[in-house]
Amino acid sequence: MSVPPTTAVEPPMSSMQAGVIVDYPASLDCIHCGLCLDDCPTYRLTGVEPQSPRGRIHLMRAVAEGRLDPEPGYVEAIDTCLVCRHCESVCPAGIHMGQMIEVARDGLNRVDPPRWTVRMARRIGLRGLLPSRARLSLVAGATRMLQRAGLTGVVAKMLGPLGAGLRDLPNVPPARERQRLPDFTPADGPGFGLVALHEGCVMPQLHGRVHRASVRVLAAAGDAVLGFSDATCCGALQAHNGDLESAREQARRTIAAFERKTADDGTTPVLISNSAGCGAHMKEYDRLLADDPEWAERAKTFVTRVQDFAEHLAEPGPRERLAQRLGRTDLGAVTYDDPCHLCHGQGVREQPRHLMSDVPGLDVVTLERPESCCGAAGLHALLRPDESRTVLAEKLRDLAASGASVLVTANPGCHLQYESGLQRTGSDVQVLHLAELLDRALDGAPT
Ligand code: SF4
Ligand code: SF4
Repeated sequence: MSVPPTTAVEPPMSSMQAGVIVDYPASLDCIHCGLCLDDCPTYRLTGVEPQSPRGRIHLMRAVAEGRLDPEPGYVEAIDTCLVCRHCESVCPAGIHMGQMIEVARDGLNRVDPPRWTVRMARRIGLRGLLPSRARLSLVAGATRMLQRAGLTGVVAKMLGPLGAGLRDLPNVPPARERQRLPDFTPADGPGFGLVALHEGCVMPQLHGRVHRASVRVLAAAGDAVLGFSDATCCGALQAHNGDLESAREQARRTIAAFERKTADDGTTPVLISNSAGCGAHMKEYDRLLADDPEWAERAKTFVTRVQDFAEHLAEPGPRERLAQRLGRTDLGAVTYDDPCHLCHGQGVREQPRHLMSDVPGLDVVTLERPESCCGAAGLHALLRPDESRTVLAEKLRDLAASGASVLVTANPGCHLQYESGLQRTGSDVQVLHLAELLDRALDGAPT
């Protein structure tokens, strides 16, 4: 793919085109220094410029300036980005790659829609399933039945592209583990704060145990906990897959549902997310809805109330109260892997480590590259399983070298990615969410 060089006087781009095709103003931030290259997983894998942050930005800019059509090479460069945002952490110019990729994918969906099977799969998944807890619950129940009957492979084959990823789904837990959280859980001891736990879409179906552990830990830290299942999906997966219209709709639903959580006395809870991807996305609702006159101010207020689970618990009051409740566990060597959307997306790095250091006697070992992507990347593991597994392989090597018998994460996508990778390789390393680790240490509970 050859791109004509940038001329001294570039053709101006109308704001309408910029909004449709790429985020042109953001693409101008790159100073081409190349400091991002070594930390980009797709560049590390391929070694080719269009698979790097700098290359992707160069292509976006060329498309915006009319020097390049959105041809297959461009589509591939935009599609293969993991949106891990590692480049954002190392870029001296402060690029916003997550935002740029979302806009570029949304633009491609408008000017060069994918084939109908992909469009239909996305429509069913992103617009039909994720926003509906009832439908997700039905699908989870049906998947559990198929898994127990050993029929997932047969059905995946029958569904063709629509069944992609069915084989790799983890075992769906029984219905009792997929229940909604209680509307209200009082603090376990003297009460100090009020939080709402964002339940999300996929987590209640696959990781209900993480939610329940989160409630117990928050309550032990002195918080009363409201269940927050009203809005289901935050819209992160829709945005990452270039469906910004649905992402905005989910953002409005989430904000409206959260506003209803304000108590009669005017007390507004802190909205806790134990999913790094959802938390990072909800913290950016103000950007997503900036051009919506009815919602822009409400979004700005909303983002001030969102906190990651570890971010909240590591604040002085909750941390001190929780630390008094933590006892010894018998987990062996434990390591923490930073979810991309927690470290690069939210700048939350030390807080989970501080909380782990409060567990008496916990043997914490470090990973070689804890901030590099595991390859889960939203739907990437389902849509591009081979590439995803290649990215994961490097992480699994680092994990083996660390000697850890438990890997701690804080994002459901990474959790599933590690679990399936470890299962494939026959490893007995256990994967826990940070909330599960802390829950096991509560009152020195036996493991
Ligand atoms: S580090 Fe930032 S400014 Fe430098 S090449 Fe990469 S994206 Fe561009
Ligand atoms: S978001 Fe990740 S995969 Fe995409 S360009 Fe940046 S570092 Fe590379």
